[in-house]
Parts: sequence; structure tokens; C-alpha cells
Amino acid sequence: MNRSVLALFAHPDDEAFGTGATLAHYARSGAQVGLVCATNGDVGEIAEGVDATPETLWRVRQDELRCAADNLGVHDLIFLNYRDSGMAGTEQNADPRAYINAPAEEVVRRLVGIIREQRPQVVITFDPSGAYGHPDHIAIHNHTVAAFHAAGDSAQFPDDGEPWQPQRLYYAAFPQSFWARLRDELAAAGEDVSQWDSAEAGDRGWPDDQVTVAMAMPDTVDAKLAALECHASQFGGENMFRKLPADVMRDLLCREFFALAWPEPAPGLILDDLFAGLEVA
Ligand SMILES: [Zn+2]
Repeated sequence: MNRSVLALFAHPDDEAFGTGATLAHYARSGAQVGLVCATNGDVGEIAEGVDATPETLWRVRQDELRCAADNLGVHDLIFLNYRDSGMAGTEQNADPRAYINAPAEEVVRRLVGIIREQRPQVVITFDPSGAYGHPDHIAIHNHTVAAFHAAGDSAQFPDDGEPWQPQRLYYAAFPQSFWARLRDELAAAGEDVSQWDSAEAGDRGWPDDQVTVAMAMPDTVDAKLAALECHASQFGGENMFRKLPADVMRDLLCREFFALAWPEPAPGLILDDLFAGLEVA
């Protein structure tokens, strides 16, 4: 049985920052790598100098994600083609085409079909907060958790493929120490970090002691950087990582972190690999 990993995110570029080095790492080591993107990032801000309008942005971002997926070595890239729901509290939330307004049963059915076809042992998505509360991030989290558990149940969606139960569900989970280091590196580079230090900013990130897998992947950070460059409409000249010295940027970006969500880990469990201890590893 080949190793297989499936990552499910909401927008083009969600995959690159949190999991790009990891997806490239497993693709290079011979695992099957699948990526599901729920929306086309239709309503985000457009970085300066990019040839896109609000009308064409969905197509530009699909092409950017194809470019990124190629660089990462993703084998199967699947667009669900929902509309970006926009940030919480914006008028886009009410658009009937918005991903957050799609019936959960419809989305979960599609994800179950994809899981049963791809047969991953490892599934990755956002944490319950959607990393920073974007409604689409929270939606793909909820739909993925439901599909993860339904895919192996022959009584659910019996017309959507042979049952397949993935063995592990992980959340991409940058820990508080990562954000604290990024803040310090930005300060050292002379950037204004007052927003980071404001009371409203609070504690960014996942508690360090709940991170199950922390991987440093200098061998695939170039693939991740290339993927980020593909996302030109989002990874513009003002991106905070571009303010850092190149060696610092690479050292930060090569590190990715995952919290095991299912099966529920024993407190303090540390794994050195997403597949560690699985019979396929
Ligand atoms: Zn996103």
C-alpha cells in the first residue's frame, strides 16, 4: 500500500504557507499527494502589479494554484469551484454562490467521494478556528472532519464509492512560538511590530504543547518558495516574509507544524513524521 496524503483547504495559497514544504516532501519521497481547494479565492485583495480584475480573479487564482501545485509535486489538484465567501462580516458572506452557503450535505458528499477515490492514510486541514477565523477556513475544517468520519462508513453515501477510512486527521497548526519568533525577526529587521504587540492581537497560534509533528524541511523550502511566488496576486512585494533576510525567511518557511486531531493523541505525544507508526510508513 502506497502512502497517500490529502490536504483540504479553502483558497488558492492556503496550501503553500502552512503545508507547502510538507506536501513537496511527501511527493518527493514517493507518496501520493492530493490537494482539494474549495473556492477560487474570487474576492481577495489583488497585489499591486498583477493583471487581474475582480471579474477575472477566480481564473487567475486557479492558474496560480496550478502553478503552485506543479512546483510542490501535487499529483491530484481538485477544485470544488465554490465562490470565496469573503472575510467575516463582509457583504460577500450573503452571496448565494459563497462556499459558506453551500449545503453541508452536498459538500461532505463530494469530499467523501474524493477521500474514497484517493484513499489517503493521512488527511490535513485547518484547525477549528480556521487559523485566523476566515469563514471559508472554518467551513472546510467542518466539512473535512465530517467527511473524514463518514468516508469509512458504508451506511453513509453508499453511492459515492467504496468505504475508506483514513487513519489520521491533522490540523496545520503554527504554534505560538513560531509567531513569536516571526515577530522578533521582523523587529530585528527594523519593521514596525506594534500591531503584533497590541492587546487585540492576543496570543497567535496553537499552544506549543499541542503540536504533534514539527518538521524542518530545508530540502523542499525552495519548492515552497516557488509555490508562493506562483501566488503572485497574493504574495506581493509587501508580504512580511519579504522584509526578512533571505536566510531567516528560509529558516522560518521550511518549518511546518501539525496537531493530530484524530485519533485523539495522548497528552504530550510527539511524532517526527505524519505517517510515523502507521503500517504504511
Ligand atoms: Zn485562505
